[in-house]
Amino acid sequence: MSETLRVTVWNEFRHEKKPTHKAREVYPDGMHAAIAKALSAQPGFTVRTATLDEPEHGLTQAVLDSTDVLTWWGHCAHKEVGDEVVERVYRRVLAGMGLICLHSAHFSKIFIKLMGSSCVLRWREANERTRVWTIEPGHPIAEGIPEQFVIPHDEMYGERFDIPAPDTLVFVSWFQGGDVFRSGCCFQRGNGRIFYFCPGHETFPVYHQPEVQRIIANACRWARPLVSKPAVVVNAKQPLEPIVP
Ligand code: ZN
Repeated sequence: MSETLRVTVWNEFRHEKKPTHKAREVYPDGMHAAIAKALSAQPGFTVRTATLDEPEHGLTQAVLDSTDVLTWWGHCAHKEVGDEVVERVYRRVLAGMGLICLHSAHFSKIFIKLMGSSCVLRWREANERTRVWTIEPGHPIAEGIPEQFVIPHDEMYGERFDIPAPDTLVFVSWFQGGDVFRSGCCFQRGNGRIFYFCPGHETFPVYHQPEVQRIIANACRWARPLVSKPAVVVNAKQPLEPIVP
């Protein structure tokens, strides 16, 4: 484990490259640039970015081996993420790397593989107001976050969200149209901590919002590896003590 927290911000980075896409107005350098900029302002964070169209999606073994926490945003190109890269990320999570899955990353190959469920949900693009409620104020990811805050416009994600019951549910979101959603969910798989956070549709400036930036930074700190080693099979043929019938 390093002294600093080494975060890699991964983004599919496709919407923002399309000349007429609204995401380009909101995130001219890509969502990863906005997320990385906010995280870089945190003391003790070393932040780099990686995107889908880089060789190996920017997630070589060397990059992952030197990553404490990986954040993931993907939407229209989940299927283009190579299975070998997904497997590599999966093994790193089981060994101890933290993973923060944002918004439409609920349908990423890596999130579905780690959850073992369909991860389907209700959705609606209606520019509606959403209110994020902090329901575990004592959790490290909620540090400095008010009881509730408003995101003026976002895509609606609603229940049922087909995930296993989270280990801890930190945030629940309400949407103007009446839906509710488990929007901040903690999981552990192997040695790795996983946080799913719902806000962040690509056409709204959600990742420019201070509360959202703080939650992602808190989540990175929370997901920092406590150990970093893969699970191994042990043949314990030599008992520690004589086995006397
Ligand atoms: Zn969206």
